[in-house]
Amino acid sequence: MVSQTSKTSAYDLVIIGAGMAGLSLVHLLANSIEQGLKVALVERFELPSLSSDSTQSQPPSFDGRATALSFGSQQIFTQLGIWRSIEDAACAIENIQVSDQGRFGQTHIKHSDAKVDALGYIIRNRALGQGLMADLPEKLEVLAPQSVADIKISDQQAAQLTLENGDQLFAKLVVMADGGRSDLAKQMGIQQQSQSYKTHALVTSVRIDRSHQHWAYERFTESGPIAMLPLANDEFAVVWTLTNDVIEEYLGCDEAELIRRLQHVFGYRAGRIIAMGERASYPLALVKAQEQIRPHLVLLGNAAHSLHPVAGQGFNLALRDAAALAEKINQAYCDNESIGQWSVVQNYYRAQQRDQENTLLGSDILPKLFGQKNTLLRLSRDAGLIGLALSPTSRKLFARQAMGLGQPASQLWAKKKIEGQVS
Ligand SMILES: Cc1cc2nc3c(=O)[nH]c(=O)nc-3n(C[C@H](O)[C@H](O)[C@H](O)COP(=O)(O)OP(=O)(O)OC[C@H]3O[C@@H](n4cnc5c(N)ncnc54)[C@H](O)[C@@H]3O)c2cc1C
Repeated sequence: MVSQTSKTSAYDLVIIGAGMAGLSLVHLLANSIEQGLKVALVERFELPSLSSDSTQSQPPSFDGRATALSFGSQQIFTQLGIWRSIEDAACAIENIQVSDQGRFGQTHIKHSDAKVDALGYIIRNRALGQGLMADLPEKLEVLAPQSVADIKISDQQAAQLTLENGDQLFAKLVVMADGGRSDLAKQMGIQQQSQSYKTHALVTSVRIDRSHQHWAYERFTESGPIAMLPLANDEFAVVWTLTNDVIEEYLGCDEAELIRRLQHVFGYRAGRIIAMGERASYPLALVKAQEQIRPHLVLLGNAAHSLHPVAGQGFNLALRDAAALAEKINQAYCDNESIGQWSVVQNYYRAQQRDQENTLLGSDILPKLFGQKNTLLRLSRDAGLIGLALSPTSRKLFARQAMGLGQPASQLWAKKKIEGQVS
């Protein structure tokens, strides 16, 4: 119920959620915001808490995980000026070894295959969060801690949001970057298509008896893939897929036993594990919103699609989506058009639909293909890995896809462009 003291405010854009997706969109719109685009960012958690080491009350994007940023994402962050503040915390991947437990197929992808310095970068989410929280546009209104309780969309009035404190916000466009667990989309009748992989990711970090030399490893086992990803402090971030029936037992193991089990399935290709960090687990599912756009509404990031982390593509895809959306919003703002009109949101979705479909398909096929016990499938994936190992062209294509360069890049709006076009 709206109290007598509640306020009403009007914006061009309200972004719900200051996770990786929502904050990235803010940076991509920074120039328009400074030029007068009125934007509010609503986040349930307090934002400055990120600067402390506290593990409490932080937006869930910025927990103890690490993220593989593709080369394409690094390029976007460089152009936005974010890269220089996170560069020291990021570790370049120069080589990737892909292998299959108990089989002969194995491949090695080198940065030189793609003629780049790095195939991608690994960064702890907390460090990425600090980079995304820094240098937010001065004119951005941050409403945090504050939750959106209700959204109503009407064609004439655009969107009307009610916050939990009763305040009302009106906006030409609402971007729901509120993650995969929010009820807001369901409240609006937007259904999710969800397919569980019946597995969890056990996430931790390990120290090895030698330097990682910028190698990343992806190993397919019967319970799913294990990724060991090099971190800036010479540790590895580990993403270990385990079936639902064993995850609690593994989480409860003492450190020595868990190291023994990991070493058993992973082998000694990266060295001998000598210490392990804190553990957390995440249920794995492919989740897609059945509608991503309506007039005055866009779903972004995990709210739109949540992927298996096997190929480390969830956030990289969300960043490409955010870049494409920002391009359309910036253009409409420059042209004095309403940023929430159907043609703007539809053009955004058309631009990203194929990229989304390809990325979702790729991230879904990999764990299924490698999770199969069927002999023919196992032989064909051995052949696939060997083919990749032998053919420089396929390695180059694979590397380009993994680097987030498999599709045309969105136009990022440099300051000059906005200044040149807005009267
Ligand atoms: C184990 C694991 C490993 C991964 N590794 C990679 C990787 O290597 N590379 C990669 O690209 N991706 C990876 N991902 C995916 C990546 O983590 C996600 O894509 C990303 O975190 C999604 O961010 P988001 O901003 O969409 O959602 P979230 O992080 O969920 O953020 C949503 C925000 O909205 C806020 N919110 C929710 N409801 C409301 C409300 N009603 N009002 C106000 N605020 C609200 C929440 O508090 C939250 O801060 C991985 C995922 C997992 C699980």
